[in-house]
Amino acid sequence: MRQRTVLIAGASIAGPALALGLVRSGIQPIIVERADALRLGGQNIDVHGAARTVVRRLGIEDEIRAATTGEQGLRFVDERNVTKAAFPAEHADTNGFTKELEILRGDLANILYNRTRDTTEYLFGTQITDLRDHGDRVTVSLAHGADRDVDLVVAADGLGSRTRALIVGDEARIRPLNLYACWFTIPRAASDTAWARWYHAPRGRSMLLRPDNVGTTRVSLWFLSPPRGYEGLRSAEQKALVARHFADAGWEAPRVLDGLADAADVHFDTVSQVIAPHWSHGRAALVGDAAYCPSPVSGMGTNLALVGAYVLAGELARHASHEAAFAAYETLMRPYVKRAQKLPPGVPWIAHPQTRFGISLLHLGLRLASSPRLQNRVNVFSSSSTDTITLPDYTHG
Ligand SMILES: Cc1cc2nc3c(=O)[nH]c(=O)nc-3n(C[C@H](O)[C@H](O)[C@H](O)COP(=O)(O)OP(=O)(O)OC[C@H]3O[C@@H](n4cnc5c(N)ncnc54)[C@H](O)[C@@H]3O)c2cc1C
Repeated sequence: MRQRTVLIAGASIAGPALALGLVRSGIQPIIVERADALRLGGQNIDVHGAARTVVRRLGIEDEIRAATTGEQGLRFVDERNVTKAAFPAEHADTNGFTKELEILRGDLANILYNRTRDTTEYLFGTQITDLRDHGDRVTVSLAHGADRDVDLVVAADGLGSRTRALIVGDEARIRPLNLYACWFTIPRAASDTAWARWYHAPRGRSMLLRPDNVGTTRVSLWFLSPPRGYEGLRSAEQKALVARHFADAGWEAPRVLDGLADAADVHFDTVSQVIAPHWSHGRAALVGDAAYCPSPVSGMGTNLALVGAYVLAGELARHASHEAAFAAYETLMRPYVKRAQKLPPGVPWIAHPQTRFGISLLHLGLRLASSPRLQNRVNVFSSSSTDTITLPDYTHG
């Protein structure tokens, strides 16, 4: 029988994870990535709950564990760096901020890429410009390179996916959370330890500094703002904007902004969710952030991408008909995605107070939540209980 082919847009987490699952089922993936090379930037992400089961079944759990950042927990600090609440990491699949499997996003992307590069055709520096669904196959036009005829197409090209509109038209919408985020790397300083530190400044600003496993410090800066299209600015303009926003933030802002000026890996984006009533149309489907981005504040983006890719690959292997596979994928994933996208009331403004008094109240609430009695019961860092999907075991047919 002829081998089925699936062309995937996006070589980050969802795309290569899907490819890994497809190859194991005898389906041939091709990945098209807009960037000229694998993008290795990004900060700490974690793998927990159902995603932990997925990486174990995909055979990459040990590799992930070997590349973890070693973060020992999170401290909320004030302007004088005094700890207001502390959440230590637990050596389990914890509810807390620092999970057992904390890894740099680029390291996870690299693990998935290395596991698939010999069995998957990777086309870098190009993207899909048109899809023509003939009913029995799809013709894909690329910005650079000849047209490709494939059985199926999957968009795994993230929050700002362009491929999404070619598949589901304008049905999907972006839900902005009135928050912007800027991620980058700075040199480690004496005040940096194996603990993450999170500092809040008035006017809805916060700075999170996290240790990594390569001797530097990973920064995320967050600020509340209605959507203003800042994500479309050039990188130099984004740096200037962030520097202005945080100039009087206090604490370690001067050092962080010096690092921002020199940083080569700045990633700036609006914090938003993707809400799509359908994840497929004809012979094409969506996966990961392109389909159901829950936003970084949910703590679930990478987990949904891994679980979604695993389920989609498994259902495609299980069903000869792509319609049946896409329907089963959506039936299994919808409730899980819905819970992950349901953010606690008041997020994100509750975590970004406007005044010093508001920051004191936030610290008080966090101190209560960090008490050993509550820490195992209240999850202030994730949008949902993450084991709320029953994963079929596709390895047993
Ligand atoms: C460079 C980078 C840094 C990140 N840093 C963080 C972070 O620090 N913290 C965090 O929580 N999340 C971060 N993310 C997002 C995080 O990876 C995702 O939320 C999550 O892992 C789901 O991954 P995904 O594969 O669905 O989408 P993404 O990780 O967003 O990957 C989408 C991929 O598609 C590619 N692409 C975009 N458009 C096209 C196109 N038209 N055709 C082909 N390819 C295209 C992109 O270059 C990217 O490789 C980052 C993403 C990237 C790309």
